[in-house]
Amino acid sequence: MPLLIFERNKRATNFEKKRVMKVYLDNAATTPMAVEVIEEMTKTMTDHFGNPSSTHAFGREAKGVLEMARRKIAQLINAEPKEIIFTSGGTEADNMAIACAINDHGVTRIISTCTEHHAVGHCLEGNTSISVDYVNLSLTGEVDLNHLEELLQKPVKTLVTLMHANNEIATLLDVKGVRDLCKKYAALFHSDTVQTMGHYVIDVKEFGADFLTCSAHKFHGPKGVGFLYVNKALKISPIIHGGAQERGMRGGTENITGIVGLAKALELANTDIAEHQSHVQGLKSYMIEALRKRIPGVNFHGEIDPEKSLYTVLNVCFPAFENKSMLLFLLDLDGIACSGGSACTSGASTGSHVLRGIKADTDRPNARFSFSRYTTLEEIDYVLDKVEKIVVGALVADR
Ligand code: PLP
Repeated sequence: MPLLIFERNKRATNFEKKRVMKVYLDNAATTPMAVEVIEEMTKTMTDHFGNPSSTHAFGREAKGVLEMARRKIAQLINAEPKEIIFTSGGTEADNMAIACAINDHGVTRIISTCTEHHAVGHCLEGNTSISVDYVNLSLTGEVDLNHLEELLQKPVKTLVTLMHANNEIATLLDVKGVRDLCKKYAALFHSDTVQTMGHYVIDVKEFGADFLTCSAHKFHGPKGVGFLYVNKALKISPIIHGGAQERGMRGGTENITGIVGLAKALELANTDIAEHQSHVQGLKSYMIEALRKRIPGVNFHGEIDPEKSLYTVLNVCFPAFENKSMLLFLLDLDGIACSGGSACTSGASTGSHVLRGIKADTDRPNARFSFSRYTTLEEIDYVLDKVEKIVVGALVADR
């Protein structure tokens, strides 16, 4: 089904189209909602408005819809329905995994990296109830498994929290390597799968983590809804206190419309997932090659090897030029939405903690382009033309 933004482009007059094409390449920040998801959510809002905790027919009906969504999601990731706890998104799910590991499972030490999303990083910094060890990273952000093993040898109850794919530099985790080490040293394992759920087939049994986190708005679902997968062997207590919803593990009336949207979005994402992957990876590889040909001195932050890199994200490191701080602004004027890094830190003046964490040359301007299954080759060509005009033009002007 066509993306809403395409529809808007189609409706634009030829004059407008010539002037500025609108290209959305910030899908790691959020994705436009799929039309099918909006339809399913609208139906839920109109037909199933009951409170799932109410015992009358309206409530029972809403509860049925809620549990159907939970079953669908569980089936898609090879989990059991009782292993899914709905949350307000990825941030809450990350916070919950860490809090539960500490409060309910006696974790006193957490191993992580300095390039995690702030939903994890800020739970660790200054947390006096635990000690934190940061595992070494390569210059492309890969976790040093030898160092991880060295850290795990310390005999304390440990949680290893490592994101599946970095949202800024795309580097993928060696899940199997980490899972096996966590098993060997009896450490709990949490992975932030916010950028990979809906983009790869996730089988929780194969993944082997105790906790996984999901956010619907990263795969064409609604904002403000996600879930925490918790292995059924682990008991957890709530971090949000209130009613007995989510089997006593999270208080608050469930966001049933959002949850239905999440289930539908995950179902759509998993349908023809191999085709989505090859389409998007094709665009990314095309863009890498074209940038290398057209921009002298261009480079890339993080991994770009398709085996080791999230196919939806490309972080481009441009040669330095005088007005480099204008890059994203100029792209925006040309109708191109991309970002310098994570959307959550775009208001901060400290720059990207991820780029600092991999010791990247932050004097050079960068742009994170992130794609979705709706991105087209025509859009990439448009972006390449504008990027070349801005960057090569600035380099010439600097001479
Ligand atoms: N983790 C990662 C890797 C993310 O990219 C994000 C969102 O940008 C989050 C967590 C937070 O998810 P949410 O926006 O649903 O709170």
